[in-house]
Amino acid sequence: MTQAMRLTAESDHDFSTILSDRAMIPVTCDHCEKDTDVSLETLKSTSTVMCEHCYHVRPFSNAELQVLTTVLQRVGYRVTA
Ligand SMILES: [Zn+2]
Repeated sequence: MTQAMRLTAESDHDFSTILSDRAMIPVTCDHCEKDTDVSLETLKSTSTVMCEHCYHVRPFSNAELQVLTTVLQRVGYRVTA
């Protein structure tokens, strides 16, 4: 049990950084082009994002989430599905 926990902790450090679901991702508004930080958890569970600057609601599709995930993985983050 103890050993298993230690292994898990070590692999977290050895491999790429796991991006927490609480990580904030800037989403650019289509309307005012300002960024709104939205948590990864929210992006996974919603299909719309509301701009905090002008309250414009933009769709956030599953395809966009896939692109975002791919980009994050390319820069060295591991994103849990
Ligand atoms: Zn906006």
